[in-house]
Amino acid sequence: MAKVFPAHQCIVVGGGLAGFSAAHTILEYGGRAVVLDKSPFCGGNSTKATSGINGSGTSSQKAKGIKDDADIFLSDTLKGGAKKPEVAKVMCVESGPGVEWLIEKFDLDLSLVARLGGHSQPRTHRGAERFPGMTITYALMQRFEKIAETSDRARIVNKARVFNLLTDGPKQVIGAEYEKAGMAYNEYGPVILCSGGFGADFGSDSLLAKYRPDLLHLPTTNGEHCTGDGIKMGERINAKTIDLEWVQVHPTGLVKIDDADAKVKFLAAEALRGVGGVLIDKTGNRFCNELGRRDYVSGMMWKNQPPFRLCLNSKASKEIHWHCEHYKGRGVMKGYKNMQELCDETGIKPDVLRKTLDDHSEIGKKVEANLTRAPTMRTRRASRSTRGARSSSTTCRPRSMTRTASRSSRRPSTTAWVGWRSTRRVRSRAPRAVRSVVCTRRARSRAVCTATTASAATRCSTAWSSAA
Ligand SMILES: Cc1cc2nc3c(=O)[nH]c(=O)nc-3n(C[C@H](O)[C@H](O)[C@H](O)COP(=O)(O)OP(=O)(O)OC[C@H]3O[C@@H](n4cnc5c(N)ncnc54)[C@H](O)[C@@H]3O)c2cc1C
Repeated sequence: MAKVFPAHQCIVVGGGLAGFSAAHTILEYGGRAVVLDKSPFCGGNSTKATSGINGSGTSSQKAKGIKDDADIFLSDTLKGGAKKPEVAKVMCVESGPGVEWLIEKFDLDLSLVARLGGHSQPRTHRGAERFPGMTITYALMQRFEKIAETSDRARIVNKARVFNLLTDGPKQVIGAEYEKAGMAYNEYGPVILCSGGFGADFGSDSLLAKYRPDLLHLPTTNGEHCTGDGIKMGERINAKTIDLEWVQVHPTGLVKIDDADAKVKFLAAEALRGVGGVLIDKTGNRFCNELGRRDYVSGMMWKNQPPFRLCLNSKASKEIHWHCEHYKGRGVMKGYKNMQELCDETGIKPDVLRKTLDDHSEIGKKVEANLTRAPTMRTRRASRSTRGARSSSTTCRPRSMTRTASRSSRRPSTTAWVGWRSTRRVRSRAPRAVRSVVCTRRARSRAVCTATTASAATRCSTAWSSAA
């Protein structure tokens, strides 16, 4: 204890957004902070976040007339499956001030607000340019680096793998031990663990193997750093953990045609669906509410025919231009001059695709005109998907929870309604420029196929289905 308080510094393990937020907060309160990160560059998964950051009651929402607050966000979160209201409440109450802090303190543009899966209000913030996670995390990182250059209040050590928490007695953490270039070093002070999750922890002794062995075979969009180091170090000194079995399976990982089986995949930002992207199956039919929660979309992929494609018309792709250019540059998205060209390449019948897009557009128009009170699906296939939207939660649940949840899936949901709203962005007549991507599995064998986008889903949905 004596070695920690009063402390001359605070140790932050991990240089993602959590780490740099903690480090800046320490500086704001007049302290000193050292950030230790095992990777050659900081940023972690935070720089990969492509859709945006959620916050309720923000100035960006107010400027757009969006009525949202922490209670509505909390209600959505609990509906989404959160089982600990006291924990969810902290997140929801702090979300708005967190977004404001980023805007005010780091001069960030978070003025665009989208409504994504599971949300009853638009509350996912991003700026006009680039991936929001990258923009936000770099802003904090660069500010911290500047302070480090000009004072001794901030330090960053990269390639510094923290492997042990130093203790003084059974419960007193007094510092951390790290390894750098084959040497071990100690830092003393209070320790804040910000080392991220364990979604890329695939070893046989991994947290994934311990808590969700059913997901071990899936590909991931996590960085390789994501091995649960902080959690493991904490557990070794008897720290308690909660909810580690709640591992999310995302439906839309991007499949690179020439590397379909890659264990690490690009994530198709949820925002692509948020701006009106349409998910179609092998035959060109729509099979789900694109804005349904993630496990529901994954589940619907399992029940329908792969490969799946995510199509954005020219308006939608313009709205999310930067993302599309990025994905195209990475070879996981492709632009088509028109719908016919897409059909020629994929073997989808033009009249089927046209009907899919027309229906999609029609429903969107109806919602926009407020003519319907609930979404009306035109096909049986689609109506199944609407029910499913209600039945599932934001995360991929453990088996037992899934069964319970699916019993409650009898009627159209508000979530589905949300989905139809976004569809208005799809043109009703043969769209001039259809950008397709996505893709997934050739068969239920889990063979990820060709195309481009969505699918870790492929395999994710495979696993999800078997888990269900
Ligand atoms: C592809 C993708 C897209 C996403 N999109 C979104 C989105 O749009 N919106 C959203 O809200 N969330 C999104 N997420 C989730 C979000 O990115 C994470 O929840 C968030 O980045 C976690 O931040 P973090 O700082 O806790 O961890 P990270 O950003 O992962 O940072 C952890 C850091 O800890 C370091 N580290 C790990 N172990 C050690 C160790 N032993 N010693 C020292 N350093 C260590 C790592 O090198 C890394 O730099 C996305 C995630 C992925 C993978």
